[in-house]
Amino acid sequence: MPNELGTNQRPLRVAIVGSGPSGFYAAESLFKSENNVIVGMFERLPAPYGLVRYGVAPDHDKIKNVTKVYEKIAAREGFSFFGNVEIGKDLTIHQLRKFYDAVIFTSGAEADRKLGIEGEDLVGSHTATEFVAWYNGHPDYRDRQFDLSCESVAVIGQGNVAMDVARILCKTIDELKKTDIAQHALDALAESKIKEVHIIGRRGPAQAAFSSSEIKEFGELEDCVPAVDPKELELNYASQTELEDTSNAAKKKNFDILKGFVSVPQGNKQKKLFVQFRRSPAAMYPLEKSSNKLGKVYLERNELIGEPGQQKSRGTGEKEELKCGLLFRSIGYRGIPIKGLPFHDQWGIIPNQEGRVADSEHIFPGLYTAGWIKRGPSGVIGTNKPDSEETVKHLLEDMSDLNPCKNPSDEAIIGLLKELNVRFISFEEWKKIDAAEIARGQESGKSREKFVSLDEMLSVLE
Ligand SMILES: Cc1cc2nc3c(=O)[nH]c(=O)nc-3n(C[C@H](O)[C@H](O)[C@H](O)COP(=O)(O)OP(=O)(O)OC[C@H]3O[C@@H](n4cnc5c(N)ncnc54)[C@H](O)[C@@H]3O)c2cc1C
Repeated sequence: MPNELGTNQRPLRVAIVGSGPSGFYAAESLFKSENNVIVGMFERLPAPYGLVRYGVAPDHDKIKNVTKVYEKIAAREGFSFFGNVEIGKDLTIHQLRKFYDAVIFTSGAEADRKLGIEGEDLVGSHTATEFVAWYNGHPDYRDRQFDLSCESVAVIGQGNVAMDVARILCKTIDELKKTDIAQHALDALAESKIKEVHIIGRRGPAQAAFSSSEIKEFGELEDCVPAVDPKELELNYASQTELEDTSNAAKKKNFDILKGFVSVPQGNKQKKLFVQFRRSPAAMYPLEKSSNKLGKVYLERNELIGEPGQQKSRGTGEKEELKCGLLFRSIGYRGIPIKGLPFHDQWGIIPNQEGRVADSEHIFPGLYTAGWIKRGPSGVIGTNKPDSEETVKHLLEDMSDLNPCKNPSDEAIIGLLKELNVRFISFEEWKKIDAAEIARGQESGKSREKFVSLDEMLSVLE
């Protein structure tokens, strides 16, 4: 006999693990369905919104307005937020399933890919993730130290995250102080001695992954000029063909912006941003043998091979040295496995069939996934919306076959969390924290001053 899930007598109960864009879009899609739905959103951090809060650059505050849309979703009847609850640690999937008929994992891609080269772990070599999370006030990263006393920094990778990192290093304190950048980061950046930032990409200017708006910003900074050597912009035949293709208009725009950076006079600006192509880091070394502190990186020159649109970089064996006291690796993200779920180690995702969690042998009934942990770290915030909708569509198709949970009650899950001594943050409580952050930001002319620890957030609620 089919179950009654989704009816007024027995609403469909769905747990969503992770409160980033894909989690909220999954909730929205469930509420838009014809069914009576209850959503419990579980987030390991005390605050919601995932990378919108802890990834998007502080000086790109308009992008963060998307949280207004998420607030509206959270205000829907049947929505509950359980912040500060990590699934796989505070609660097992098995425990969660007792209270929810289905679970959607939207836990993002929080770990970094490694370069796998000598010297990668020297002091001064960091992942972009650490730096981004630190300047954005992520509780897990607030105590990180970055030695900004060196003059030259290398950023490996040319995606938008690499651009964000480079821009934050190139901006003046005046350009940053009105944003929601964490105060500890603003204080440290105020002491920065950095003069040169080198953004290094493995392929050529026709393949660079950054968006035009991100690269263009480097031409508009108060105290930094972009510097591009014309030799960097030389193109092989395949790259020229790529740029002539009208479907590559965005890459052509990037290329034109880079050409405009060739002859920018430095004037009296203090900092320089170098954009360098067709190079891969081969090894990192300290300046002196006895030191464990990064002093230089060896870059191998690459050539591009392959047909237009499919060119790959290949090392030429020619090496050059770049002195740098700080290096950020921004070469991609991968998800972190959650206990009790299959994991595709090579791709860093939860294996799935269009959102249904599945390993090579079978589908895991009642378990779904969406967002970066489903498809890998690609796309912008909006890309997660159709992705979550696809997952929810399949969940609803499966609804009549779902195994209804044993204890369909919010009081029961709250009771269990209390019993386990897990201090969860409700959405109402988050709204109080949110208001307090905005108020204390206003005191110093910032859009917001984030609380960077659970204790600080809890003190607002006392
Ligand atoms: C540095 C950076 C800057 C970016 N800037 C932009 C930008 O300017 N514009 C743009 O459009 N896109 C930007 N993006 C891309 C955008 O942020 C992503 O597309 C989007 O955040 C992915 O959404 P998600 O929900 O899949 O993952 P996330 O946003 O990562 O959300 C995942 C959530 O799950 C939580 N979680 C993880 N594990 C657990 C667990 N076990 N239990 C409970 N909760 C858990 C995490 O704490 C997190 O809150 C940026 C990405 C990065 C990395």
